[in-house]
Amino acid sequence: MLLISVYTLAQETPKVEPPFWWTGMKVTELQLIVHAEGVAYTAPRIVYPGVQLAGVSKTDNPDYLFLDLRIGEDAEPGKFRIDFDRDEDVRYTYEYELKERENLSAERSGFGPEDVILLAMPDRFSNGDPANDDMPGMLEKADRNNRDGRHGGDLKGVSDHLDYIAEMGFTAIWLNPVLENNNPNYSYHGYAITDFYKVDPRFGTNADYVQFIGDCHDLGIRVIMDMVFNHCGHGHWWVESLPSEDWVHQWPEFTRSNFRAPVNSDPHAAEFDKIKMHSGWFDTNMPDLNQENEFLANYLIQNSIWWVEFAGLDGIRMDTYPYSDQAFMARWMKRMKLEYPNFNIVGEAWLQKEAITAYYSGSESERFGYNSHLPSVTDFPLHYSVDKAFHESESWTEGMARLYYVLSQDFLYDNPYYNVIFPDNHDMSRYYTVMGEDLNKYKMGLVFFYTTRGIPMVYYGTEILMCGEEHRGHGHIREDFPGGWEGDDVNAFSGAGLNENQLEAQQFVKQLQNWRRNASVAHDGKLIHFIPEAGVYVYFRINENETLMVVMNNNYQSVNMPALDRFDECIKGRRQAFEVIGQLNIADISAISIPPKSALILELK
Ligand code: CA
Repeated sequence: MLLISVYTLAQETPKVEPPFWWTGMKVTELQLIVHAEGVAYTAPRIVYPGVQLAGVSKTDNPDYLFLDLRIGEDAEPGKFRIDFDRDEDVRYTYEYELKERENLSAERSGFGPEDVILLAMPDRFSNGDPANDDMPGMLEKADRNNRDGRHGGDLKGVSDHLDYIAEMGFTAIWLNPVLENNNPNYSYHGYAITDFYKVDPRFGTNADYVQFIGDCHDLGIRVIMDMVFNHCGHGHWWVESLPSEDWVHQWPEFTRSNFRAPVNSDPHAAEFDKIKMHSGWFDTNMPDLNQENEFLANYLIQNSIWWVEFAGLDGIRMDTYPYSDQAFMARWMKRMKLEYPNFNIVGEAWLQKEAITAYYSGSESERFGYNSHLPSVTDFPLHYSVDKAFHESESWTEGMARLYYVLSQDFLYDNPYYNVIFPDNHDMSRYYTVMGEDLNKYKMGLVFFYTTRGIPMVYYGTEILMCGEEHRGHGHIREDFPGGWEGDDVNAFSGAGLNENQLEAQQFVKQLQNWRRNASVAHDGKLIHFIPEAGVYVYFRINENETLMVVMNNNYQSVNMPALDRFDECIKGRRQAFEVIGQLNIADISAISIPPKSALILELK
């Protein structure tokens, strides 16, 4: 027995990440993290044509080594051994693989203004495989009676309903993080990752994720992966024995971030506040990663490339963007653009104001003393304006003027047409609740999101008027999608059990999203808007071939179409139009009236 165990020990496989890589990448350097007991006392060896072991780095923890590989252009796809020698024995060995890069991988196009994104929380959308609800080794078991617990939703559940998603007119899916969150409780949301290279087994396997993305692509649906660089989960394998003391931000006692992202761009900000902002922890169970550590920086950059390449991603949504080291984030984006020039990444910049949001949007040249190189940001200022605009009576700054003034600050963004715009998301009170459960306001707001500039994102359940207030707890805004679990009384996929308003809303979303899919003018048309007058906001989207005219009546009475001469620079004398929502041909738009609290989408003829 003793001999066998010694023998097994000698053949031990260390943990190596990235677990494999590709030939033909733009950047030929690859840095491997190796984790095994006393691995720093070994001497690594690689013999493979075209691959050079260019450097070996140790940290203050002898259980880690970092290997710098140079993968030459002449390196062929294949497998080779990395041997770790000690005392003339091979102490550890790892079979490394360089895979062949898929054709056109570098040319992949990212999501863009032509898309409508569905945001779905994988634990709460549909349970396609009850057998994976409780998995061996995973600390938290499913409990559908617990609002903050895991409910059993998974990748198969989303895959099973891709037909519904496609029929609703969604062209892209962003799932909240799917990577392993092996934490004892409150693990369903996915933002406390415990393994950056592994899909949570309660959602499926890595192979299931690849399959899911393939299924999406078959239906013309793009997939955006939610990634988190700012922190990991407490249960991450490296937390117990960190590669180095500065791997995570350490404090004498637990110190939370001040969550004041404006300090990053504030010319008057105190160092104390800045440090607390990005080095304070997001939460007690989320160790704050220090991207100023060069090895961790490489780790995170390679991890994101690995997923793009391995899973065939169409985009990334980066969580808590302002909380990470901003010099690192810009470096990451430059590397991503080098490998994938046409890719798209949206950074979550949860900020109240336009200027401090635009600070995070990248550009060709440096503005504001900083260039993130980030193509897309989440447009929270637009969200907050919609939250209020439809409830208010008109004034110089309120009501429709709110929408106008937000958009009038678009000069701050390099490309505002790439802002991701949204009625709500997984962290906010649900849209229908915020709209006061008023179907007219709900529809007006959606028309705005589908027709103004930006990339619309719609949270699952919005189409069936799901309600929920954030202050009551996140469980209330992340309820299970009805019909996603066997035996559900209501089935939103089939419509069974939905009330009249829900069916009307679902049909409305379906109609407009399908219209938008083919309405290229709503994707790339230049936005021209007119100062709202008397509660009526008129704007246009104009491209070479088409002109779209949107008229919003925010009054509780119907109004006549405003005199058209004011808009003639866009209308150019035309009077005929097709109204998209009511599906009506209109002979003379000057003669129509707009019902109370409603919008018209006019395709000018
Ligand atoms: Ca399941």
